[in-house]
Amino acid sequence: MIKFNRTKVIATVGPAIESKNVLTKMVLAGVDVFRINFSHGTYDEILKTLQYVREINVEYNTNVGLLADLQGPKIRIGEIRDGKVKIRKGDVITITTKKMLGNTKRISINYENFPKDIKEGDRILIDDGKLEMQVVTTNRKDTVKVRVIYDGNLSSNKGVNLPNTKISLPSLTEKDLKDLNFTLNNNFDWVALSFVRSASDITHLKHIIRSRRKKINVIAKIEKPEATKDISNIIRRSDAIMVARGDLGVEIPMEEVPVLQKKIVEKCRAASKPVIIATQVMENMIYRPNPLRAEVTDVANAVYEGADAIMLSGETSIGKYPVKVIETIEKILERVEREDSIYLNPEDSKTRHFMSNPNSKTFISDAICYNVCKISQEVNAKAIIGMTRSGYTAYQVSSYRPKAKVIIFTNNFILLNSLSLLWGAKAFYYDKFSSTDETIYDVKRILRDSGIVKKGDVVINTASIPIHDRQRTNMIKVSVIE
Ligand code: PEP
Repeated sequence: MIKFNRTKVIATVGPAIESKNVLTKMVLAGVDVFRINFSHGTYDEILKTLQYVREINVEYNTNVGLLADLQGPKIRIGEIRDGKVKIRKGDVITITTKKMLGNTKRISINYENFPKDIKEGDRILIDDGKLEMQVVTTNRKDTVKVRVIYDGNLSSNKGVNLPNTKISLPSLTEKDLKDLNFTLNNNFDWVALSFVRSASDITHLKHIIRSRRKKINVIAKIEKPEATKDISNIIRRSDAIMVARGDLGVEIPMEEVPVLQKKIVEKCRAASKPVIIATQVMENMIYRPNPLRAEVTDVANAVYEGADAIMLSGETSIGKYPVKVIETIEKILERVEREDSIYLNPEDSKTRHFMSNPNSKTFISDAICYNVCKISQEVNAKAIIGMTRSGYTAYQVSSYRPKAKVIIFTNNFILLNSLSLLWGAKAFYYDKFSSTDETIYDVKRILRDSGIVKKGDVVINTASIPIHDRQRTNMIKVSVIE
């Protein structure tokens, strides 16, 4: 049987794992979602990966999800002669918006309004902050002179962060719109937008998706200081959040990242929105067969904080040990998930402050989802079994972090793989909604046959009765597997 850790693992696809053989090993080791980073790779390469993952899902009866990660308004320097040059502290360099081959004196940037948006004294961070420069002057047209503060090698196309600058680029670039088109045409399960600055960026993206008459869940990547200020609205408008610690740690003081991570996870759980922790999770394993002790502790802490998923980037896309990384992270997750303190706690703020809003359309199902989790804890249930078409029950129940596995039966194909991102959730396809008793009997049998529960285990079913009406969840049944 495939592993059942509550915390989900997202692996970024890249040259290290492109073959079907390696992708299969990664799924069997525990990957729940593959992330396609549109900053790299061609459409042909991506189509091959999609085909392989879908074949694996059929061959191994898995529901591995596919996440499209749009680059967003990422700023980059241009090509450098011979690939890289060495720049020295104190050097004054010209940055131009005109396309040219860079050298030690002059480099280009892909951001037309850079000379207008930047001010004297602003910091310019290149290659994840490995190099730092400060603006000396700008002609406000096409040329900016900068002084090197921290020197090093400057290579072609490296990313640029401007932590003090209000960037006027659109939230979706031409490239993003093309990549979004590809994403929608190829039925990904999730789409993530990089460098989100405000909730309106998400509204805009959702508007485009709706206008194409498509359905896909949207993830906001939090990596800009502006986003941290509008975080409550961004969480409300998005379907999930990613704490993108790589760029975030360059854009804001690094010591703020763990504080923000904890606050964002808490806010997402309160809103029943999945939250992903990303970047430098097992960085050491890009080159070596073991993680650093600090990395092991970082993964464990993300679980203790209540993250839904942990994302690997270079570790799996270009790393030397992509399968071993998954085996290693699964061991850490499995160990921490043996600790009772990660599960529903009557004292935590979400549980303590639960109050179903009588004016809400979801008033009854909210109360059912909350109470089913409480009951599951009291009767030591092994599974909470939900029937859902919209997925609402899955998101609600999962957000309380019950110790019982969150098993979802649905006839909604879109939901099957997208739920792979949710803490503790596993989905099964089911479309025989005859009578409530028959359905409950049937789904319990399926779970017993698949080894998820065994004879004597207590399980709790939620459903909507009468079953044919397909209304919101309004019923709880507690029983024992025979
Ligand atoms: C990050 O910055 O943490 C991140 C996930 O972004 P990307 O890998 O897309 O640069």
